[in-house]
Amino acid sequence: MGILMKGIDVAAAMKEELIKEAGLLKEGGIIPCLAIIRVGSRKDDLSYERGAKKRMDMIGIECRVMELPEDISQKEFEEVFRKVNDDTSVHGILLFRPLLKHLDEEPVRRMIHPLKDVDCMSDVNLLKVFDGDGTGYAPCTAEAVMKMLKHYNIDLKGKNTTVVGRSMVVGKPLSMLLLKENATVTICHTKTENLAKICKNADVLVAAAGKAKMITADMVGDGAVVVDVGINVDEEGNLCGDVDFEGAEQKSSYISPVPKGVGSLTTSVLAEHVIRAAKELSQSSTDR
Ligand code: NDP
Repeated sequence: MGILMKGIDVAAAMKEELIKEAGLLKEGGIIPCLAIIRVGSRKDDLSYERGAKKRMDMIGIECRVMELPEDISQKEFEEVFRKVNDDTSVHGILLFRPLLKHLDEEPVRRMIHPLKDVDCMSDVNLLKVFDGDGTGYAPCTAEAVMKMLKHYNIDLKGKNTTVVGRSMVVGKPLSMLLLKENATVTICHTKTENLAKICKNADVLVAAAGKAKMITADMVGDGAVVVDVGINVDEEGNLCGDVDFEGAEQKSSYISPVPKGVGSLTTSVLAEHVIRAAKELSQSSTDR
């Protein structure tokens, strides 16, 4: 039966160091600050925002929320974004995406200061992730998976690692982070043939497809490490992952649950990025 990889345990291990770092910044006159830009009031966004605010507060990071009306025009949206981007007291920006259909995210993706881009929406940071250059910010969820694997001392070097999902937010950047750790990475998607066989062959299997319980026990190899990124609702209306937990748990050596898995760790990674951004931005302003 697999050892449970709990997001809250990893978050707890990160907490003290982050509090210390935020304290040091404050002693130097810098209050680390995250700006959240939200258009409308989507339930998922509100739920993530609550978690992020709580985590920032716990660490000692100021969190400002710009709540914008659903009918905001592209011009007004860009103006707000520019103002936040130019505000020297803001160190990190989190924009909830996808945006509403009438809004284009491309101009703000190009506009965002790379050092404030704490959830990796700009090409600069994406390129760094794909280049294996650790100086940028990876998307928080992808990095949360890496933090979890590291916390549980999972050796990735040379290991068959399969990622189910190829989005630019999770699957692809995560595959690049795994590759950087010298894993042998296979990326699967809806057109993949023999998905079950490929999954079963994996030493480390990451599910990021957004399909409730699609990874069944027969798709998990004996002793595999299973990380479940999916957040879904099952037929009974309960939160569940992409992995059929009960069956997969029996086969795995390590397994992350949903809820209380990767999702509980994402805001800690976000906090870590904001602290880093505050340090790097203050450094770049003193260098000038
Ligand atoms: P997307 O819908 O953007 O991408 C899903 C990917 O999974 C696609 O590449 C798709 O393939 C692939 N896929 C879907 N169904 C199957 C299938 N049956 N077999 C194989 N591949 C499949 O989702 P995201 O990447 O944004 O998110 C993935 C999951 O992670 C979701 O459940 C989301 O809620 C969750 N999530 C969790 C976060 C957290 O903090 N824990 C944060 C962000 C997301 P194709 O490209 O061919 O369509």
